[in-house]
Amino acid sequence: MKFQIIAGDICLDFINTLDHRPDPARQQELLNSYEDLADWATHAGAIRATQRTSLLRLAEDRPQAARIALRNAVHLRECLYRLVQDSLERRRAADADLRTFSGYLGEALSYLQLRSVPGGYRLQWTDDHLRLELILWSIARSASGLLTSGDSQLIRQCDAETCRWFFIDRSKNHTRRWCDMKVCGNRAKARRFYREQKRT
Ligand SMILES: [Zn+2]
Repeated sequence: MKFQIIAGDICLDFINTLDHRPDPARQQELLNSYEDLADWATHAGAIRATQRTSLLRLAEDRPQAARIALRNAVHLRECLYRLVQDSLERRRAADADLRTFSGYLGEALSYLQLRSVPGGYRLQWTDDHLRLELILWSIARSASGLLTSGDSQLIRQCDAETCRWFFIDRSKNHTRRWCDMKVCGNRAKARRFYREQKRT
């Protein structure tokens, strides 16, 4: 499978779509087309499969607009990366990043409306929400929730130096070290095993 959804949060999984971020030689962009973006978003739960179908049809009709939406998605992703990194390192975020993010969030909110549902209320996209940017709005909306919630204190980065994927550490004692035990955890275990073998 092309996309690994491991973070426990849409915004963090989105940031992880630039793979091997710390190592320029190995860095790999996983979002190379609007279709990639739509596939990732469906897989991560940012949009539904039926929305994906409609969005891909739109992208096919408007390739230039789809390219712009993809470029904006990467722009939003890198902004989110800096915001999360600043928060982890307890730094004040740059005004430019706060403004950029607020711009995407403001657009997202303008397409949301409060609906009455049995037992309460729900925020729902307006009827004319089906635009190529829907994926960005969905991410911005989800990110605003994460960044302002207690869960932001549980954001960690994978221990592997060339990975550093973000995730929410919901383990009981908050000791999760790897993005995915099968990927980075096993690699580290194998390295440790190899070193110990060499010593004996
Ligand atoms: Zn990792």
